[in-house]
Formats: sequence, structure tokens, C-alpha cells
Amino acid sequence: MRQSQLFTKIERNAPKDEATVNAQLLARGGFVSKLMAGVYSYLPLGLRVLNNIENIVREEMDAVGGQEISMPIIHPKSIWMTTGGWDKIDVLFKVKSRTEKDYALGQSEEEVVTPLVMKYVNTYRDLPKAVYQINWKFRDELRSKSGLLRGVEFLMKDMYSFHETQEDFERYFAEVKKAYFRIYERLGLTAKATEASGGSFTQKISYEFMVLTDAGEDDILYCDACEFCVNVEIAKEKEGDKCTRCGKGTLAKAKASEVGNVFDLGQKFVKDFDVTFTDKEGNKRHPIMGCYGIGISRLMGVIVEKYHDEGGIVWPGAVAPFAVHLLSLNGADGEKIYETLQNAGVKVLYDDREATPGEKFASADLIGIPWRMVVSPKLLAEGGNKVEIKRRSEKDSQTVGLEEALKIIK
Ligand SMILES: [Zn+2]
Repeated sequence: MRQSQLFTKIERNAPKDEATVNAQLLARGGFVSKLMAGVYSYLPLGLRVLNNIENIVREEMDAVGGQEISMPIIHPKSIWMTTGGWDKIDVLFKVKSRTEKDYALGQSEEEVVTPLVMKYVNTYRDLPKAVYQINWKFRDELRSKSGLLRGVEFLMKDMYSFHETQEDFERYFAEVKKAYFRIYERLGLTAKATEASGGSFTQKISYEFMVLTDAGEDDILYCDACEFCVNVEIAKEKEGDKCTRCGKGTLAKAKASEVGNVFDLGQKFVKDFDVTFTDKEGNKRHPIMGCYGIGISRLMGVIVEKYHDEGGIVWPGAVAPFAVHLLSLNGADGEKIYETLQNAGVKVLYDDREATPGEKFASADLIGIPWRMVVSPKLLAEGGNKVEIKRRSEKDSQTVGLEEALKIIK
């Protein structure tokens, strides 16, 4: 893509109404544009990042047998009355139609998915089933000041599974937990799983996946020697205490952002909707249910909080909007190189704007594409199709032939 044709532009200054690093850098780099607190437009660069995160999540959900569907965002009040969520969930976004009918906007979709899936489950032979969607969700937030970390409108993957027995549920629950760790690893994030209470749903055990970041809204205690991690809100321990789990490590306190959760829903929703299947003995029974969420747009914000320096964003390769940022300096003709990169299947943003080298370097740092490739009259004069390449995450550049550069980048 040619940068001269991108409809977004680099902003020199951070927007005054954004307090967090992720919101400031994403707005300045032209990834997102704020409509109101907690609600953003995703611009060409930003949508590419969002799609990359989404695809990693999709691959891992497909790998554990999840089947992708798309469910409605607007729901009738009646299904939320059936489960008690209408009165219990304070962040449930409620809207009224012109005929004074009440509706809710989805913030989690047990109310839709439970009757939907069970419509097609008659006997134990139809179980287990796992379905998921990647869709926009809404929360009626009072304050939304953390950029993409806490949206009123946000993109989320929500999966729901239905099982014949508790054992089968637990087997699947463990499998999804592993898939979650794979997702975070692929995104370049180290996540810790905290045991948490099931919130408004259930008193059963559930896990929240936390990424350590100073922009996070949760405080956690974690062991420096084992995997033990707990939210300070429910912890019995204090910072500096010895870890009771392994007996070796010490507990440290840190700020963290929740990037996913897995809940054992038990039979709460299947009983609310009275959906059953016929077991091997011919008896009608309620299945066991689990739900598994990952905040996709929030992850984009968390990645920026973790991967940035004073110059801008430093995207991990797996989610970067492009692989190479090609800059032509001082009127050098970069067209041939742009074409060669594209023909080699390299995703490239070509800075063909009329701008000073200083402006182009600053914009490359801000946008944060993993490789910067420079072509200049001086390099061209050296002959042999020479370019200068540099990793966004490193200081030193190297001058090599284009063929060699392609090998290094790939
Ligand atoms: Zn420990």
C-alpha cells in the first residue's frame, strides 16, 4: 500500500483527551479514531492489526474443535429476564425502541447461544458441542478512559461449550486453557492465569488471563517461582509473603490487564432455559456448560502498552499491519523495489510521500512496522540494488543487496 494514498495521516501531537499510551500512539499513528469515550473507528492500519489478532484467535479456536457462528448483537429483554441478567448486570447496555420496547445489546451471549445450540442437541450422541463468534459487544461503562483497554464497544471472541458430563467438561476446559496460552504466546504476550470467582454467573472456579502492564486496571499477586497468581481483590496473601503453593517463591504485586477468561457455568443457563438431552439410559438431563472469552480489541491496546518506545509502537511480527515499511528518501525511485517486494509476497507499506527524511523516519518509528527498508539516491549510486534495512526493535541498520534483504526479512 502507498502511504501517499492512505486516507489517514500521522499526528505530531497526542490527542489531549487520551490519558493512556495505547490510545495516544494508536491515534497519532492513524490506527484508530475516537468517536466518543470507549468507542473507536478502526482505520486501515488499525483494522489490519485487529484482523491479524482475530485470525490467530480463530485458528486456535478451530484447533480445539470450536465452530464459528455469528449471533445477533441486539436481544429482546425477555431472554435477559429469564436468566436474571436484566436486573443483575449493571453494565448491561439497555435500549428502548420507539414503541417503548426494551432491548439489550450483547455483552456476553449465554442467553442467545444456550437455546440456539440445544435446539440441535437431542441425545448424548450430539454432545459435546463448542461454538464461538467474533463480534462487537457493548458495556454500559460509567468511565472509559483507558483507550482500547476498556471499551463501551469492543470486539470479543466468545465461545460456549456443552457437555454430557462434568468430566468431559473438565477435559475440554483444560484443553481451551492450553489454547489460550498458545494464543498469548503467538501474540508476543506473557499471560498469567489467576483463579477468580465466577462473577455474576457462578461460584464455580474460573480463570482470568492477565498480562502484566502498568496501564492495567487490576492488581495481582504472583509467585516468582511457580505459576501461582491471584487477584488482590480476593487474595488472602500479601506482597512479600512466601508462596504457599510451591513453598519456594515470594509473592510480588503488579498491575495487570485482563485479556481473557474461562468460566465453568455448570447448569445455570441450561436450567434457566430448561434445555435437556436424552442420556444413554433414556433419561432427560441438563448438559454442563462452559464459556470462554477473549477481548480482541483490548488485546490490541495491551500489545501497544507492552511494545512501544519513545518513538512509537514496536509491533510484534505476528500482528503488525505490514512486514516492511519501505521509505524512499530525497526523491529516490523506490517503484521497482516496491514491485519486487510485492511480487515476493511481502506485505509492504511504501512511503512515497513528498516529505523530508526526518519526517519519514519519525513516521516509520511511530507506525512501528517490524522492518524498515530505505532506498536513497546515495544507495542507488552504489549500484547493485542496495537498500538499508533495520529492525524497528533495534538501533543498527545494515546495507545489503535487495536479494539479501529479502532473505533476511523472510
Ligand atoms: Zn509459588
